[in-house]
Amino acid sequence: MNFDQSPSADFRTNGSLRAAGSRRRRTAPVDRDPQELSTGDGFRLLEEIRSFGNPLMVFTGGDPLKRPDLYELIRYSVELGLRTNVTPSATPLLTGDAIGRFKDLGISRMAISLDGPDASTHDNFRQVPGTYDRAMFALHHAKGIGLDTQVQTTVTRRNQRMLPQIAERVCETGGKMWSLFFLVVTGRALENDDLTGDEYEKVFEILYELSKIVPFDIKTTEGMHYRRYVAQHQRGDRGAGSNSQVARRVVWRTAGVGDGKGFVFVSHTGEIFPSGFLPVSGGNVLRDSLVDVYRNRELFKVLRDPEKRQGKCGRCEYHNICGGSRSRAYALTGNYLAEDPRCVYQPLHPIGV
Ligand code: SF4
Repeated sequence: MNFDQSPSADFRTNGSLRAAGSRRRRTAPVDRDPQELSTGDGFRLLEEIRSFGNPLMVFTGGDPLKRPDLYELIRYSVELGLRTNVTPSATPLLTGDAIGRFKDLGISRMAISLDGPDASTHDNFRQVPGTYDRAMFALHHAKGIGLDTQVQTTVTRRNQRMLPQIAERVCETGGKMWSLFFLVVTGRALENDDLTGDEYEKVFEILYELSKIVPFDIKTTEGMHYRRYVAQHQRGDRGAGSNSQVARRVVWRTAGVGDGKGFVFVSHTGEIFPSGFLPVSGGNVLRDSLVDVYRNRELFKVLRDPEKRQGKCGRCEYHNICGGSRSRAYALTGNYLAEDPRCVYQPLHPIGV
């Protein structure tokens, strides 16, 4: 797949949406954004996403299950030939029946969040009692009916040492992938949860060692420098005959993918963002072509241009597989082209070379 031409697309559905309606629903309930995309908007968006080629389409949220037209949208996405994933929240809406419908409609994979290895840690993180049990029910139920799953974990200071135990849960539930999200801190409330650069390296070491023995793929989001870590350590492992091919395979498959590069995010109101964590809009699908925005708008072109990256990320020999998190650079410096402030690596090329 040519990532530059065929990005994966996230369509964020508004967790508060209750009913499908006309193109612009001015009489929406108070807890529903009156500007959110209608079912028809969603259909048109899916058609345009298909015109990219063969991207992966992900319905995410909030909670996509709060959209009563979710199944219609999934059906159409699959009919168009899009590989389609869904990331529902572990709420009472995520019943066995709902998971069965995902399977019947042709969902490729269902992703479920797990931020701790047991009820006390996960529920404490989510601040919702019962969420762990619901998440585990969903994962086990999907396994039982043959629907592929992946587990998503937000890595913080609080759970960084629990990662091996969370990996055990992924194993038990037959997950195909463990997708780890690294914080992009946008408010003071999360500051204490953010890892330091050194803590990132320690987490990468845990993931890399796990990747040699677990039966599922490990992927990082907004932790692009894990690819650099793997590339660095594979050199040493190769001679030792280590079983590190799984990490290598995943790293190579995602090499170079980043915010606005092989990935595009469309919000529930149609805003087109390079990522769900980079709140700079390149346009809106209600007035702009998604394909045109992704391929031709300056915001996206600049994000894909390695020459435009600044600081260490601009002269790093790993820029082709990493490039740093543009979202984190923006969140912490206000400049999405700045170096990733949470990477400790010092490029071989000195400044100015
Ligand atoms: S300096 Fe930037 S491009 Fe290089 S490894 Fe770190 S984050 Fe990646």
